[in-house]
Amino acid sequence: MLGDRNYNSIVELFERIAGEDYEQVVFCHDRPSGLRAIIAIHSTALGPALGGTRCWRFASEEAALTDVLRLAKAMSYKNAAAGLDLGGGKAVILAEDPQVKTEEFLRAYGRFIDALGGRYITAEDVGTTGDDMDMIHRETRWVTGISPASGGSGDPSPATAYGVTQGLRAVALELWGDESLSGRRFAVQGVGKVGYALVGHLTHAGAEVVVSDVNPEHADRAVTDYGVEAVAPERIHAVDCDVFAPCALGGVLNDGTIPELRCKAVAGGANNQLLRPLHAEALAQRGILYTPDFIINAGGVINVADELNGYDQRRAYLRIEGIFGAVRRVFETARKEGLTPSLAADRVAEERIRSVGRIRLIRGAQQATF
Ligand code: NAD
Repeated sequence: MLGDRNYNSIVELFERIAGEDYEQVVFCHDRPSGLRAIIAIHSTALGPALGGTRCWRFASEEAALTDVLRLAKAMSYKNAAAGLDLGGGKAVILAEDPQVKTEEFLRAYGRFIDALGGRYITAEDVGTTGDDMDMIHRETRWVTGISPASGGSGDPSPATAYGVTQGLRAVALELWGDESLSGRRFAVQGVGKVGYALVGHLTHAGAEVVVSDVNPEHADRAVTDYGVEAVAPERIHAVDCDVFAPCALGGVLNDGTIPELRCKAVAGGANNQLLRPLHAEALAQRGILYTPDFIINAGGVINVADELNGYDQRRAYLRIEGIFGAVRRVFETARKEGLTPSLAADRVAEERIRSVGRIRLIRGAQQATF
């Protein structure tokens, strides 16, 4: 019976949300504009939940829900490990055509975010742009990554690349006892917004760089501007180098690529580099040092989070330099506890959520609820 099936699926939905301790999942619908969105708040233990809005043509509503839950939890870990006073959340817009985002559509979405009163703060993600954030900003102040003209920090990619560079210095220190990148050889997969900026930092630091991009114009731009070498996209992970730096898509560390790697370390800006958690173990078995992506690529979120205090680029970039220490802490924890860096990074994040989240229980008269 349809009624029974619906009832069962609602129970399953609650079980799924409760199973991983999500605080709140909000379904948003505005028929005239065609907006259908899901906002997932995983945790506000450390502060309001910050995470971007992904606008995508999902295969099903279930796929959209799976994605938003996974991404929201990942943001809790990323924000916690970055030392931010922010929890984790994420939103997905289920779009028939992700290109068609009218003013009405985006502003309706902004109203839904506003209704959460600051429990969720959004930002740009796959399928959304800085212009979209400006439009959402017309309806709510709970949005980051707005344009500099509106008092925001703009495109987060340069900040992400700056943070990756700081993390790479920590990788160098771990591998060679010296944080200098000079004379080291890097293979950068994907020279889009983050990868291109990273190549700039690396060449400036005196490193040797090999790049690759499925878009030949992007590869050519890096070759022309920085005098680096380019190889075919299917070869980049197998280039003989010190560090392989994924800066394109997720899932690049998998059963096919890991046996072919010829690097000492993997560290780059891409999200979800490991296809599955077990691939962290496969890298360790090959003696390849892996830097967890959500630790090293936190520069973008640190930069947009600074907008919440009135954006100050100098302050934001000083904070991004903390990624050097964050990567070191993960390697130390991994060593001490005999874990892969991937599990160690989860530990670091969970420990901060637990310990710092707990201090809210210490109350004065003003903070007490009567
Ligand atoms: P982008 O779209 O500007 O760049 C990605 C580049 O990778 C493009 O040039 C694309 O042509 C290329 N590419 C795609 N598939 C490839 C392949 N198989 N081999 C080689 N090149 C390939 O995106 P971006 O903003 O630079 O983000 C790159 C990665 O970093 C993504 O995984 C993103 O989620 C992650 N990230 C970005 C930010 C940010 O601030 N932009 C922050 C954190 C994480």
